[in-house]
Amino acid sequence: MTAAPPDNVLIGVLPGDGIGPEVTREAVRVLEAIAKGSGLDLTVAEGLLGGCAIEQTGRPLPDETWELCQRSDALLVGAVGGEKWDSLPPDQNPGLGGLLRLRRELDLYANLRPGISYLPDLSPLRSCDVDVLLVREAVGGLYFSPHRGRRREADGDVAYDTMEYSAAQVRRIATLACRLAAERGGRLTSVDKANVLESSQLWREVMGEVAARFPSVEVEHLYVDNCAMQLVLRPGDFDVVVTENLFGDILSDELAGIVGSLGLLPSGSLRDDRFGLYEPVHGAAPDIAGLGKANPAAAILSAAMLLRHSLGLDREATLVERAVITLLRRGVRTPDIAHGVEAVSTSAFGDAVLAELDSMHDGQS
Ligand code: NAD
Repeated sequence: MTAAPPDNVLIGVLPGDGIGPEVTREAVRVLEAIAKGSGLDLTVAEGLLGGCAIEQTGRPLPDETWELCQRSDALLVGAVGGEKWDSLPPDQNPGLGGLLRLRRELDLYANLRPGISYLPDLSPLRSCDVDVLLVREAVGGLYFSPHRGRRREADGDVAYDTMEYSAAQVRRIATLACRLAAERGGRLTSVDKANVLESSQLWREVMGEVAARFPSVEVEHLYVDNCAMQLVLRPGDFDVVVTENLFGDILSDELAGIVGSLGLLPSGSLRDDRFGLYEPVHGAAPDIAGLGKANPAAAILSAAMLLRHSLGLDREATLVERAVITLLRRGVRTPDIAHGVEAVSTSAFGDAVLAELDSMHDGQS
């Protein structure tokens, strides 16, 4: 998106649970530094989402948060969830009742998840050169199953969810994915399970119709199980991967493993205007919450996506990405990717990004 940024920008920040507040803090510091350096009139307003919202208001997505989201130019989210709340009924828990509901009600149908191997040595596959854009359909499929429930039968409980997609839902994500592939390397992999699922057969049919309008894009269809394997065998061959909600959720964690850590994968949930919700792909990571061990790179890179897609600040987004890559190369790494170098804390990584941005700025002036 290249349009000029709005004069006054309001970013709604929803830090959430676990490591969410820790990584979001660093991303907000970066946004504030960029705003200061570029003269952007930026206001940041925080809201409650997820388990912390349940604790304070009894609901995962309180009205005040919804109201903040509606008047914001873009949203920056940490992560939600935790053992204490995850087993609540789906519509009352931090995931489905909070974050997923927010994405759905804001109609943020396209969840873009770039997985890039910034440094080959961070990947367990070592010599791989990966630059994949995973496009996940984010407001349909099993997670928003219209027919879901539980019933009691003579021999015990039965629970069910149904995967449903309309042709219109597939068409809009297919169109976006084809457009993105045409702007990148011209290769698109559409992932489904059309040998078994009706919804996947419709997916493949519509994907084919849409792809026919993009002659410059080479389209490959893969079954999700095969795709999971091919991603490990030949990750460097993939360019844009488009898939439905559940498959995308799983494959993006695989992609995170391939490039080295969940702490390196940002995401942006978009629709057809410039509004978007930006968040790291990872969850609330309760195992490391509060220890200063969380990698804030994914959150900071999500802030870079926000600058590019919602504010049209492409140059500034690139500066932030360059700062993060420079630090990783220099060995400034949190414990998840330290691999033998002395690890830095979450806030020390944030400090280093700010210092790097400063030095880039000085280098330009
Ligand atoms: P998770 O992503 O939170 O953690 C998986 C593993 O990756 C853990 O070992 C964790 O320590 C590590 N990890 C994750 N992010 C990291 C980071 N930035 N730096 C270093 N290490 C990192 O997934 P999980 O353990 O399956 O789920 C934990 C909680 O998060 C659950 O309550 C779940 O519902 C929630 N969750 C939320 C989201 C979201 O908000 N988008 C996504 C997935 C899971």
